[in-house]
Amino acid sequence: MKFGGTSVGSPERIRSVAGLITKDDGDIVVLSAMSGTTNQLLEIADYMNKGNAVGAAETLERLRGKYAGVVKELFPDNDEWTAKANSDIKESIDAITSEISSYNGLQSEKNIVARGELMSTSLMLNYLLSCGVNAKMLPSLDYMTVNASGEPDSKEISAKLSSLLSEIGAAKVYITQGFICRDPEGNITNLQRGGSDYSASLVGAATGADEIQIWTDIDGMHNNDPRFVENTSPVRELHFEEAAELAYFGAKILHPTCILPAKLSNIPVRLLNTMEPLAEGTMIHNASPDHKIKAVAAKDNITAIKIKSSRMLLAYGFLSRVFEVFERYKTSIDMIVTSEVGVSVTIDNEQYLPQILAELKTLGTITVDRDMAIICVVGNLEWKNKGFEAAVVNALKDIPVRMISYGGSNYNISLLVRKEDKVKALSLLSEYLFNK
Ligand code: ASP
Ligand code: MG
Repeated sequence: MKFGGTSVGSPERIRSVAGLITKDDGDIVVLSAMSGTTNQLLEIADYMNKGNAVGAAETLERLRGKYAGVVKELFPDNDEWTAKANSDIKESIDAITSEISSYNGLQSEKNIVARGELMSTSLMLNYLLSCGVNAKMLPSLDYMTVNASGEPDSKEISAKLSSLLSEIGAAKVYITQGFICRDPEGNITNLQRGGSDYSASLVGAATGADEIQIWTDIDGMHNNDPRFVENTSPVRELHFEEAAELAYFGAKILHPTCILPAKLSNIPVRLLNTMEPLAEGTMIHNASPDHKIKAVAAKDNITAIKIKSSRMLLAYGFLSRVFEVFERYKTSIDMIVTSEVGVSVTIDNEQYLPQILAELKTLGTITVDRDMAIICVVGNLEWKNKGFEAAVVNALKDIPVRMISYGGSNYNISLLVRKEDKVKALSLLSEYLFNK
């Protein structure tokens, strides 16, 4: 069970998470830092990187004050647990202080930022212990490791974790830190921002969990973007591949690399809502889903580039020369559509657009359309099924469509429209596909 920063963002939230994680026996709970803390710790390091020790000390003082308040509210009885919680927080604050006084760049920054998860987990553990729960700490720095290229080492993680678990013995609940780990030299490092989801997936895979639960403050995945469209509803289940297609669109879903360990170990991932714990949420798994359209999503600020050349007709090597241009400027292409005499691609990063266009002009005639949006329709859309494409195109019959792409995977149809038509397109798709 993984809880993100907002789920443990206040004493009140910590208490409600404590209730959720003690329902069953022996669950492993992965926690993020309390919301805002990771940023504040990075700010401390940033002051040090800029040579401003006063700025760092003042930021740390604010952090210390915040945690003093949290302890006071979480442990109001002022008993042994208050003292224990205070001394654990003090240990982290002291460690940051000493890191500031002998600051040595990136490694110090990593040591400082690791304190966020160390503090949130110590608060949770002490709180559970104060309630009489048999909770135990599984220090992630004792089992979570990455190799020289920063990739988690699943064999090693699994071996270390199982010996650690048998060493510390049975517990009602195990608490562990998301995000933080050690490098091959044993130094503290991390799995990048937002890495607690990755931690949870790795721990779930390493222990052969029945299920990995990612608890956030939203009700799973919706079938359309609730910011733009009314009457969206939660998607109850998604294939890992469908989830991966949606990830690009900033749908509130896990990054594909985060859930890869779960996918490979065939462990379902369930997205759940701490504010509404009984809601079913969204299940992501490898099971072959129903043949139906599950969700739509959109991403704007897309630029479409068309390269037209009669030299492309019946020639080989043309596409490769086009793609090499994008490769040279480290610009990734998202959608592609080809005809016999031209190709259209989309990019979402215009940093090198002038250079890219200059080089493409040597290959053909170029047309650029900016301020476009990709609309993505996701589901199990295997080609032998009939009617999916027709339903999608029909829903959008009153909107000018610049590109259509289907067949790259079994799981999506993408369409490119003007950004100003995005909301209308999303609404029409909801109306035609889901709410009819
Ligand atoms: N605390 C880390 C971050 O804010 C990791 C996480 O929350 O997933 O990026
Ligand atoms: Mg997060």
